[in-house]
Amino acid sequence: MNTTLNPDSQRRFFTVGTGSIPKQKDFAKDREMEFVDSRDGKKKNVKIINLSINKLLHYVNRHYRSLVPFISLIKFINIVVALLEFMLRKSSCISKPFVFRIDPCTACNLRCPNCEAHAVKTNEKRLLDFEDFKSIIKKIKKYCIRVSLYDTGEPLMNKSIFRMIRYLSDNKISSLISTNLMLFNKNKHLQALSNSKLTVLAPSIDGITQETYSKYRIGGNVSSLRESLEAIIEQKNRKGDKWPFVDAQIIRFNHLVEEKHDIENYLNSINVDQITWKADSWGFNPIERDYDVKKSNKGVCFWLYTGPMIRPDGNVYPCCGRGFGRFSYGNIYKNEISDIWNNDYYRFSRKLYQRGPDLEYDAGMKSLPCHECTLFKKQRRMLPKSMYTHGVLSA
Ligand code: SF4
Repeated sequence: MNTTLNPDSQRRFFTVGTGSIPKQKDFAKDREMEFVDSRDGKKKNVKIINLSINKLLHYVNRHYRSLVPFISLIKFINIVVALLEFMLRKSSCISKPFVFRIDPCTACNLRCPNCEAHAVKTNEKRLLDFEDFKSIIKKIKKYCIRVSLYDTGEPLMNKSIFRMIRYLSDNKISSLISTNLMLFNKNKHLQALSNSKLTVLAPSIDGITQETYSKYRIGGNVSSLRESLEAIIEQKNRKGDKWPFVDAQIIRFNHLVEEKHDIENYLNSINVDQITWKADSWGFNPIERDYDVKKSNKGVCFWLYTGPMIRPDGNVYPCCGRGFGRFSYGNIYKNEISDIWNNDYYRFSRKLYQRGPDLEYDAGMKSLPCHECTLFKKQRRMLPKSMYTHGVLSA
């Protein structure tokens, strides 16, 4: 097989989120293939490795182990109701959001290509204060089972991060951070990490040598990353701590295909709990298989029924979509979460997934990110203004 890599796809800014439901081809066997690398025009043979094998099992394993201990009866009932509303494609929900992503810092210490965290200047508040964080948790804790403390930037840039995690643990809420670990100082942070009872640690380890690692993680040092990761796991094992569940995250970059076994051997040798290969959703240098444009998932967007993302300025977004200046659905400091959850924006977004005729033009809804999102296949569209005259569909 001869495949020419399409340079356009390297510029593709795919979608929000990282995963998709595994398809049959994801479970295919490893195979050899030849391709022409568009960057240097040379033919290369690479082994395309089945990077997604057991993806579904991994997903279940991590979420089962890290969420079930945090589910009380009232939270369980809320999840069941949310599931029913999701299946019935309700536009208004009785259930409350139960998984949140709260961004403690929208800046980053590295300079990964295509990432806005270091590249975009913004007037948005970039660091979340501990008192603001507490005020958010007080509003959501009754039904909340998980807070992921990361999104656009590097969570360890926020000096209150371990206090925040501890606050979640004290409120019986599971916590998760995804980090490059560059700012982890084992002399300073090991004890704080243990005290915080962080539930899931998801370190990014995109390469086992400095050469491969720094292709994407510009400004990072793989020795420092490995030293911190090993110290964290050594402490956990020595103390017999249950947490954190260490889920090492690697992006399926083309330049990591040949290093795949070395990376996995290393991570297994230091006893990480799980290894997760994620799609290159930035389109930086994905493996061949990821060049296929992802088809939209046929189902309903689950983010609209499970929980939102919140930035340090309190703005609430329906999902972890990247990008500053995105349209906000409300502000958690000004509104109750239950009011935001059923406001016009949320109801309109959910209506896009209901079966029926296209929706009448509404100027107030035209900025909703869900219109442009290709992650899930919507049933309806909002027709352009030009197709309506005084609320009546033109011929
Ligand atoms: S449909 Fe809307 S909420 Fe769902 S992933 Fe797309 S932009 Fe986010």
